[in-house]
Amino acid sequence: GVLIFILLISCLAGWSLDKYLNKTITPADALRRAIKNGEIIPYYQPVMDGRDNSIRGIEVLARWKHPDAGFISPAAFIPLAEKSGLIIPLTQSLMWQVVTHMNAISSKLPEGFHVGINFSAAHINAASFVEDCLKYQAGFVNKKLTLVLEVTEREPLHVDEQLISNLNTLHANGFAIALDDFGTGYSGLSYLHDLNIDYIKIDQSFVGRVNEDEDSTKLLDCVLDLARKLSLTIVAEGVETQTQLDYLNRNNISLLQGYYFYKPVKFVDLVKILLSKPKE
Ligand code: C2E
Ligand code: CA
Ligand code: CA
Ligand code: CA
Repeated sequence: GVLIFILLISCLAGWSLDKYLNKTITPADALRRAIKNGEIIPYYQPVMDGRDNSIRGIEVLARWKHPDAGFISPAAFIPLAEKSGLIIPLTQSLMWQVVTHMNAISSKLPEGFHVGINFSAAHINAASFVEDCLKYQAGFVNKKLTLVLEVTEREPLHVDEQLISNLNTLHANGFAIALDDFGTGYSGLSYLHDLNIDYIKIDQSFVGRVNEDEDSTKLLDCVLDLARKLSLTIVAEGVETQTQLDYLNRNNISLLQGYYFYKPVKFVDLVKILLSKPKE
């Protein structure tokens, strides 16, 4: 019992990563090698339109397909990538895989289909960021996609002039900006005036709390109210139950993501999902 508990805890904490890594190389070197070997791959989670159950787009979520450990969660390797500077080559590698995948199904993607990728502040602030994104944009055969840059508010986001200017340049070039994990940050809201934000993504910790109990929606009521007052388009994450869906429908939140609809899936499964769904 105790052993299982310890195993479970170490798994949850992501410490299990260590035991699979070759002891003669550092975790950062292992990750660098993994990026080179193409072990960091994109998974895709559909973003739904709750009004007609159509698929409005996808979010790209990184997975490490480790030859021995199996799939490693981004919670375990994204912080390592950020600390070691590998987040930039890692994200660049994902961007190119996404371009290749989306080009393969280009004609199946409706106009305005969202393709969202998560970016770390360290990358957004880098000199190469605007160029990386413009090259990425140029790579798509389908020019009618909505390319979404997801910027998390979870890490204290250091909103400096470089970050604002990079994101605003990309916005002017047709990218959509989504503020991720809305409501979890403590960075204050003042930067909302400086950035051209198109979407905010309500964190799953708020959505996940919603149940039959009347009080359970209080926190989310406030977050939605704030988002509405700021005239921001809302995406709800982590929708798992019919009760949560009903609540979001009542509140006119139409862009939805969550296990209730689809889990993140590998590319071939995304293709199956897209082909089985009538275009709307
Ligand atoms: P996120 O951007 O907030 O992504 C949503 C997370 O919620 C994903 O976890 C997704 O699998 C999970 N999720 C989606 N629907 C549900 C649901 O109904 N219930 C529950 N319990 N979870 C749901 P994942 O894939 O483990 O990613 C975790 C975080 O790692 C992401 O949170 C994001 O912050 C970061 N991340 C993932 N890929 C990348 C990446 O390529 N670059 C960067 N910088 N960060 C990434
Ligand atoms: Ca995200
Ligand atoms: Ca999020
Ligand atoms: Ca998150």
